[in-house]
Amino acid sequence: MTDRWIRNAVGGRLVDPDERRSFPAVDPVDGRTFARVHEADADLVDRAVSAARAALTGPWSRWSAAARADLLRRVADRIEQRAEEFVAAEVADTGKPVAEARRLDVARAVANFRTFAGIATHAEQPSFLTELPEGRQALNYAVRSPLGVVAVIVPWNLPLLLLTWKVAPALGCGNAVVVKPSEETPSTATLLAEVLAECGLPAGAYNVVHGFGTGSAGEFLVRHRGVDGVTFTGSSATGSAIMRTVAGQVRPVSFELGGKNAAVVFDDADLDLTVAGLTRSIFANTGQVCLCTERVYLHRPIFDEVAQRLVAAARGLRPGRPQHPATTTGPLISAGHRDKVLSYYRAAAEAGATVLTGGGVPTIAGAAAADGSPDSDGRTGGVDGDAGLDGGWWVEPTLWSGLTNADRPVREEIFGPAAALIPFDTEDEAVALANDTEYGLASSVWTTNLGRGHRVAQRMRVGVSWVNTWFLRDLRSPFGGRGLSGIGREGGDFSVDFYTELTNVCVQI
Ligand code: NAD
Repeated sequence: MTDRWIRNAVGGRLVDPDERRSFPAVDPVDGRTFARVHEADADLVDRAVSAARAALTGPWSRWSAAARADLLRRVADRIEQRAEEFVAAEVADTGKPVAEARRLDVARAVANFRTFAGIATHAEQPSFLTELPEGRQALNYAVRSPLGVVAVIVPWNLPLLLLTWKVAPALGCGNAVVVKPSEETPSTATLLAEVLAECGLPAGAYNVVHGFGTGSAGEFLVRHRGVDGVTFTGSSATGSAIMRTVAGQVRPVSFELGGKNAAVVFDDADLDLTVAGLTRSIFANTGQVCLCTERVYLHRPIFDEVAQRLVAAARGLRPGRPQHPATTTGPLISAGHRDKVLSYYRAAAEAGATVLTGGGVPTIAGAAAADGSPDSDGRTGGVDGDAGLDGGWWVEPTLWSGLTNADRPVREEIFGPAAALIPFDTEDEAVALANDTEYGLASSVWTTNLGRGHRVAQRMRVGVSWVNTWFLRDLRSPFGGRGLSGIGREGGDFSVDFYTELTNVCVQI
């Protein structure tokens, strides 16, 4: 039994935990509990929203945009100074390799604060001089004010990255936030509360409530009448539930939801670049990135070669302890999520898929044959010192052929390290196959034909369409999805549009 607590943060203070309402923080690497999380009840959520509302009329409301931008820069600097604490917290919650947490999660948190420091001070405020009869005029100008109390609800896959992607612009625009991190990954949101307080953010402008969704902190928060808008990243099903909850109160929502992303590879592609890019896009973060590729459409002449090379790459991934430098892949986030992913592994087999590699649960401890010799499937197993990891939520990186767009593993989001490889013959067929989905988040096209790259990228019904790359992001560009993948866009000025309200002032001259 651990005596470490992960606390809520309300009104500028960490709240004393309540033994009666708590749940375990579990390390996905070995299934062990490393802390207890204080679950916020409706009363604590109410206190958090009230603290946020009070901040909107307190000293925070009088900060200039330039002062807020300075604060965001100080926060970026402070996260860098305390980077190893953030890395350790993120790794404890997610089990991802330390190098990955450093390179992606913490680095992007820093970039989020720096980027929005530069953007929030330059928000466009349009004005028009209106001609009226008899030579009179009216001056119309629009002023921006903060949206108000913003509920920020985020998932577990990139916890700090996704949290700061919303918190940085929200604070930059002068809002007060109540954040509800995922119950699976509570640590970094509370650590961020410490950093924001150290950097001088007034009490109540950033609050954290821990807990679950339905019947817990998530639902209490979105239901609260003191919330002015909801920004949510998570599954499409939860997005739909939140939309129903807020419908009666007509509040703005920004939804970044699930994906079932396609890659299209033409026979003129640079195959070294493509295989490296696809490997990352299928298996990064153990497939637990909303942008990950789960459908790979391959031009028939190169199908076999790309399939073989992807199989070799999948077998080269090394599961293991996050701290070990040789580890390249972590576990899934939870036992429940592993059950879900494995149900798709079974569904693929039942649909008659050919399992090119993977398809099950690896043996981590012991599979790491000390001499590095491969197992019967050609894998070299985990890294040295992995004893005790069999309690974690591991699955094998998996590739299938023989499935079609009609099969469930090709239609539904798996959110694990798995993809179906499907052949095509013509450009039109590839576009039709890629767009044959209810989702519309991201896609990638791989070709050396410049015209074809632009043409196909523009025909993809998605929010983000990459050519010869994947997950390359300029934080000023619009980010979001179509269909089941979301509502609205965040990023750069698009975030400013969501986190502010415009009032048109009209003065007759
Ligand atoms: P989830 O929808 O189960 O949970 C997300 C958050 O919502 C959690 O904090 C959860 O506690 C909360 N929640 C659940 N039910 C709620 C309710 N009724 N009211 C209020 N809050 C509620 O998602 P997850 O399993 O944590 O994350 C994985 C999903 O997130 C995947 O579908 C993935 O594609 C998606 N995602 C999307 C993006 C994007 O930018 N589009 C980025 C990352 C993840």
